[in-house]
Amino acid sequence: MKEVLYTIPVNEGFEADDECPFCFMERAEEERALRYVAGPAATYMEPTVRAATGRVGFCTHHMKSLYDFGNSLGAALLLQTHYTSVLDELKKKAKNPEIPAKKSLFAKKAAPADTPYWEVLQSREHSCYICDKIEYNMSRCYHTFFELLKEDEFRAKVKNSKGFCVRHFARMLKEAERYLPESQKDWFYPTVYKLMTENMERVQEDLEWFIAKFDYRNASEPWKNSQDALPRTMQKLQGLHPSDPPFKNK
Ligand SMILES: [Zn+2]
Ligand SMILES: [Zn+2]
Repeated sequence: MKEVLYTIPVNEGFEADDECPFCFMERAEEERALRYVAGPAATYMEPTVRAATGRVGFCTHHMKSLYDFGNSLGAALLLQTHYTSVLDELKKKAKNPEIPAKKSLFAKKAAPADTPYWEVLQSREHSCYICDKIEYNMSRCYHTFFELLKEDEFRAKVKNSKGFCVRHFARMLKEAERYLPESQKDWFYPTVYKLMTENMERVQEDLEWFIAKFDYRNASEPWKNSQDALPRTMQKLQGLHPSDPPFKNK
């Protein structure tokens, strides 16, 4: 099946004047996923969605997003299914708890046992229905981005962007190995490295001026572009929007 290109979100990302177009796309996908699962369409009432969310659960970050979203009944129903499946498994384990074998210096190397229960539980800390949905659409965004690079108009948008955050820059370089058309290699690498360097330097200057403003001698100086330098620095480093309010059910 041929993948349909995801041009609208990618173009919107590059037109958003964000410190990272992929952050912008990811944030839009995050809101879309949250709205899908807990929003007015009441998908949380559908047995297939409840079965999937019950199995996969939610990561710490999205558990909090569900709470902040403001649909308490929707969130409670989603978590009820997940909670029950966690508790059912625990009850099964509790009937016959795993007791690790006694360590012995002379024992032969033990045969590889099943994955310990603690490891199963730990692996679920990052298991998340919302993260999975975001990832599915973000991988389409990357594929589309590299397809669009064949167009002059789109390359101009990239060149005029504010570069990328480090997290999405890394992912972009990784995806380039798979999707970048041969014809764009000579353009792509010098362009994105230049964009990254120049824009990281711009934010570095903003951060330095933000710090300098705390010196009483600079109190009457203008802020220039540094007033929001702290959240933008955090975004450049980790790809997050720390000063944005949580998504709300509206
Ligand atoms: Zn980013
Ligand atoms: Zn998540």
